[in-house]
Amino acid sequence: MREVGYCAMTTKHYDVAVVGAGVFGAWTALELARRGKSVVLLEAYGPGHSRSSSGDESRIIRMGYGADEIYTRWSMRSLVKWKELFAATHNEALFQNTGVLWMAAAGDPTLRATREVLRRCAVKFRELDQPALASKYSQVGLENISEGIYEPESGVLMARRAVAATVTEAVRLSVDYRVAEVGPAGNTGRLSCVNCSNSGEPFSAEQFVFACGAWLGKIFPDILGPRIFVTRQAVFYMSIPGGDGRFGPQALPTWLIQNDECYGMPDLESRGLKVALDRHGEPADPDTQSRLVTDAEIAEMRDYVKRRFPALADAPIAETRVCQYENTSNGDFLIDRHPEMRNVWLVGGGSGHGFKHGPAVGAYVAGQLVGGEAPEPRFSLASKKTLQKRTVY
Ligand SMILES: Cc1cc2nc3c(=O)[nH]c(=O)nc-3n(C[C@H](O)[C@H](O)[C@H](O)COP(=O)(O)OP(=O)(O)OC[C@H]3O[C@@H](n4cnc5c(N)ncnc54)[C@H](O)[C@@H]3O)c2cc1C
Repeated sequence: MREVGYCAMTTKHYDVAVVGAGVFGAWTALELARRGKSVVLLEAYGPGHSRSSSGDESRIIRMGYGADEIYTRWSMRSLVKWKELFAATHNEALFQNTGVLWMAAAGDPTLRATREVLRRCAVKFRELDQPALASKYSQVGLENISEGIYEPESGVLMARRAVAATVTEAVRLSVDYRVAEVGPAGNTGRLSCVNCSNSGEPFSAEQFVFACGAWLGKIFPDILGPRIFVTRQAVFYMSIPGGDGRFGPQALPTWLIQNDECYGMPDLESRGLKVALDRHGEPADPDTQSRLVTDAEIAEMRDYVKRRFPALADAPIAETRVCQYENTSNGDFLIDRHPEMRNVWLVGGGSGHGFKHGPAVGAYVAGQLVGGEAPEPRFSLASKKTLQKRTVY
């Protein structure tokens, strides 16, 4: 078999080179190190940097996934592992147990499916009817909402710092972390080495994991260009009126209203009420898209906040972010070998819901590389279509 990548004068040959230190790559490196593998983790900018999908302050960890039980189970597993990591590294505040509240119209099929799966998986939850929602959450506009599910043990991961903590732990377990932008990897043969595009420094390994988020389609344009749909996503933090405790985590949980395609979080660390649309935005390029919100995005968010949080209708916008989802055709993750380069793994397609699953993804990838774990067909490259039809939320 042809070897790709001429490796001149590498000082060390690794078991695995992981490219990308977002949440998927960081946990993959950590889980491989825990299994005794020698690992180099190569990242162009920094763990959880501000243009990566893992780079915002916060990400929801919830157990509800409609009928998609696999993600409920992965989320349960991941929450345990996040908490273990945070406890072991004295970072307990990186998980904020705000609770998660789903709100929907009467008879909502996703809420019904969520209830069934949570019951089956023995996840704690409470059901709320309209009067209960209205008396407990009078700060929320409940138009078209008649029922809710509350997950008391779920909450928020403080995202970019959680990724940094994961990388720190991986380094403690002897992972070599290097700031290096990896150049093109080719598309056939056995990969023996990747080169850093600025310095030309080579890194050689037995196996390679490309966990490059929205950049995956640029690195593998032939197979992933048409299969990873990168979309622009704007996030707003609304200022809270002075002395008003109704939007803090003691009064308001993290919330999702899927019919609105919207979600948000209480005023964590005094940054304001976080509100964002989960609806896919315009196609985006992670290198060149503007990180400033547009007037149209502001107007849409203002209308929404006025409807659901009337007390914040005129609240100043404290902060904004523009990030990107790296969607697969239906929202299932991509975790599979490259079809031509059999020692290369493609890991990504977090599709707007991947962050919480970092620990489960890392363990799964490590299991695949080390051997012995059965592959999940939903994560295969073969299941990824070139037309988008989202089914996983
Ligand atoms: C606005 C928004 C809200 C979200 N909300 C949630 C939520 O509430 N809960 C949830 O669970 N998930 C959520 N997600 C999804 C989640 O954040 C992502 O699925 C997850 O962070 C993806 O992680 P990743 O490691 O695959 O990608 P990234 O975090 O983008 O990491 C990829 C890394 O690869 C590096 N890289 C790329 N190319 C190269 C190269 N050539 N050489 C070296 N390094 C390279 C990049 O610099 C980057 O650091 C949200 C996403 C967004 C954008």
